Order: sequence, then C-alpha cells, then structure tokens
Amino acid sequence: MSTYDTIVIGAGMSGVTTARMLTDDGRRVLVLEARDRIGGRMHTDRSAGFPVDLGASWIHGIDDSPLWDLVQALDIPTVECTVGSFQVGGRPIENFTDDGAPMDDAATAQWISDVEQADRLLVQEIAASSSGDTYLDVTERALDRSGFTPQRIDEVREFFRHRVEEQCGAWIGDLDAHGLDEDGIDGDEVIFPRGYDELPRRIAAGLDVRLDTAVTRVSRTPDGAVVATAHGEEYEAHSVVVTVPLGVLKAGTIEFVPALPEEIAGPIDRLGMGVFNKIFLQFPGRFWGEDSYVLRALGEAGEHWHSWYDVSAISGIPTLLTFAAGPLGRRMQDLSDDEIVADALGALRRLYPDAAEPTAQWITRWGQNPFSVGSYSHLAVGSSHHDHDELAGPADGVLHFAGEATWGEEPATVGAAFYSGHRAAERVLGAAVDLAAFAERIRARERSTAS
Ligand SMILES: Cc1cc2nc3c(=O)[nH]c(=O)nc-3n(C[C@H](O)[C@H](O)[C@H](O)COP(=O)(O)OP(=O)(O)OC[C@H]3O[C@@H](n4cnc5c(N)ncnc54)[C@H](O)[C@@H]3O)c2cc1C
Repeated sequence: MSTYDTIVIGAGMSGVTTARMLTDDGRRVLVLEARDRIGGRMHTDRSAGFPVDLGASWIHGIDDSPLWDLVQALDIPTVECTVGSFQVGGRPIENFTDDGAPMDDAATAQWISDVEQADRLLVQEIAASSSGDTYLDVTERALDRSGFTPQRIDEVREFFRHRVEEQCGAWIGDLDAHGLDEDGIDGDEVIFPRGYDELPRRIAAGLDVRLDTAVTRVSRTPDGAVVATAHGEEYEAHSVVVTVPLGVLKAGTIEFVPALPEEIAGPIDRLGMGVFNKIFLQFPGRFWGEDSYVLRALGEAGEHWHSWYDVSAISGIPTLLTFAAGPLGRRMQDLSDDEIVADALGALRRLYPDAAEPTAQWITRWGQNPFSVGSYSHLAVGSSHHDHDELAGPADGVLHFAGEATWGEEPATVGAAFYSGHRAAERVLGAAVDLAAFAERIRARERSTAS
C-alpha cells in the first residue's frame, strides 16, 4: 500500500488549495477526485466555443477579498456584474409589476424604498428572534410592522422568498432566522469571461490528482488513516483532508471508520444543503434594454421564474441566465430540458411577449449529481453559525474537513472553499501559509513550465 503524508479527497477549490499548499511545503500529497475533471462546483462548459459557467460565476464583492487578490495576482480577467446577490437597487434592473407590466421610475423608487425599509425592520426582528425561529417567521413579523398596502407586502414577501432561494437554495421556512447574517457584499461583483474554473485548474497544475476515483471509506488508524476507493485500491496517509460537499457527507456514501465524532456528525446533520440550478438561454437578438443587468418580475408574475441576468458579455451572444432554486429547483430536476425551457420561456413572455425561441440552452441539475447532492450549504432551522466551523474537525488529529460548508464567515461561496482549504493546510502543517507567496509560487511554476 502506498503511503502519503496527506490524502486530499476532492479536487474542487478547497481541495486543490490544500493540496497545493502542502505540496509546496515539500509534503507527499495525493488527491483523489471522483469526477473526470478538476473544479467540482466550479465547472465551465466550453463545448460551444465559449465558456458557460454551470457552477459558480461570481465573486460576490471584491473589496478586502483575498480571493480577489489571488485572481488579480494570477492575471485572470473579469467583467463587472454587480447583481449576483439578489440586489434591489444599484445597477440597472428592469422591474415588472404583478401583472407583468414594466414599472415606471416612480414605482421603482417606491419599490426600492419599500425593500430597504422592510430590510431595516427585518434586521430588528432577526436580532429579537428566538432559537427555532425561521427566516419566514422574522420576515412576516417585519412585514406586519411595515404599514405597507397588501399589494406592496405581497411584492416584498415574494422578493424575500426569492432572495433566500437564490442565496441559500432553500425554502424560506426551512432557513434559520440568522441564515442570511453573513450575506454582506463589499464592493463590486465580477464574473469570468474565460470561465471560473481556470482558477482551480491553475492551482492544481502539476499536483498528483487521480480523476475518476471515488472514495468509499476512510478508516482512522493509530498512524493516520487508510482511504479506500471504488476501484478497490487502498492508500495510507498520516492525515486526510475531506473536501467533498456537505450533500455527499449527508448522503453517507463515504463510510468513516470509526464513525465520526458527534462534534462533526452533529453539524453534518443540522446544516442544510440547498438546491440552486441554472438555466442559460441564448437568443438570436436582444429584446431587453441595452444597459440592463437584470430583468425582474415582482409579485405573481415572478412566482417561479423571477430574475433574468444578462450574461451576454461572456459569449458576445445575447444570453439570459435564470435560476431555479429551493423547492422549484428540486422540482424542475425531474422535468425534461424542453419542459423546463417551455415553462421558463412562458414566464419570460409575460414580460416580453415578443421574446424569440432560444437558439441554445444549458440546464443544471446539481441536486441529482452524486458528487455534490445539492448546490451549497445553508443554516437550516436548528443549526448555528458555529456548526460550519465545527465541521472542519479535526477528528483524532488526523481527519480534517474543508470546503464551503466548513467556513462560517461566508459559506456557500468560492471564497469559503478557498479560505477553508487554506485553514486545513495550515492545520496540517502546524504553520502559517502566506497567501501572497502562494500566488507567486503558482506564477513562478507557470513561468518555468512555459520556458
Ligand atoms: C449552480 C451554482 C452556482 C454557484 N454560484 C456561485 C457564485 O456565483 N459565487 C460563489 O462564490 N459561489 C457559487 N457557488 C458555490 C461554489 O461553487 C462552491 O461554494 C465552491 O465551488 C465549493 O468548493 P468546494 O471545494 O467546497 O467543493 P466542490 O467544488 O464541490 O469540490 C468537492 C469535490 O469533491 C469531489 N467528490 C465528491 N464525492 C467524492 C468522493 N466520494 N470521492 C472523491 N471525490 C469526491 C467532487 O467531485 C468535487 O470535485 C455556486 C454553486 C453552484 C452549484
């Protein structure tokens, strides 16, 4: 049996970060990855001749972001697109009323002020909430106090529901009252015209990564751990870093021997794994405003398909991206592609009756994928922010966990995956790893490979 210093399970952003940092320190590291590609939930489809990001697209806020610093240090181009966080004002948004009619300027100003006012009340209600209160409970209390007309309440209620679905992939009644506490955005948001998976791929270059190798069992031993794969191989290491998504841990497809301690099993059980799917539609021409970042249907017109993001800048072809998250995200996974497109297009034509038939489409089903079993983690009712960081372990000093679900400060993001991978590497090494030096070493290796 081959022996390594560390085995990293999963080659997404967190796994490749840990593996790169440990390898740079001279450790013998093996990465076992179930899929036939690197990047996990950063997945760029380039089959059409331009990139389509089926997983993560955005950096949500580039101010004071070590992730943004890394992207800059690696000279990865980006395009500003500041609406990936379900914002209400700021960048140009075309809003449509309950009956699908465009909102005029006065109504839009009223709408933005309504959401801002309701959000202020919501912050107070969250602060006053008790254990076991859901995000639905606190939004209803805030709306009760708002003094808005019933129609304005309906629109804000729908907006809050969709915001939870997009940010957490969950139904508002399943999210803890504190489930969006960490949701602040500092600075602009950006997307990646060359595809976001360039980042994990460049970090992973030169690592010992075995693709198509699903791990089935991790057994802790007096000297470390033995990792078994679906191919029947076994590998031994002094430490193991598990970076598979929370959905995979919940599904129990990896057996841990002995069973995980309660400090880790508890958070796996309590935290939620949401579903958030993407539908990209390309059109022969643009039928929406030249400068609009988002088209958004409020109230009844947007009950299912409510927000359409203009991502034409990536391919140069008119392209709208819409999301199906939470309950709709789960339901749509059982429909055919044609059924999904027909349903979404029907909703879009309530806003734009002349919208043409799409010329191309991309549809995801992250909740049905055995190597993610969902899209990202959230604070389900009964869990707490501490659960995220508790999940990192280690168990018995040898078994560490990393990945977006293990980072309480901003879970469900690429940043969380990066920072948790960094933390796992530092814990395994027992020493700090400087992020600027990490980026510089990647550049230096690329220069030496190119020459
Ligand atoms: C549709 C969608 C949109 C998103 N949009 C954004 C966004 O715009 N901005 C943002 O910041 N974040 C976004 N996210 C979240 C972001 O993609 C993730 O938080 C991040 O990529 C997770 O990285 P990770 O390393 O924690 O996990 P992953 O990337 O999931 O990596 C885990 C790896 O483990 C592998 N694996 C699973 N099971 C096994 C096994 N048994 N054996 C071996 N390997 C296994 C998987 O194949 C995977 O490669 C989005 C996610 C989705 C799904």
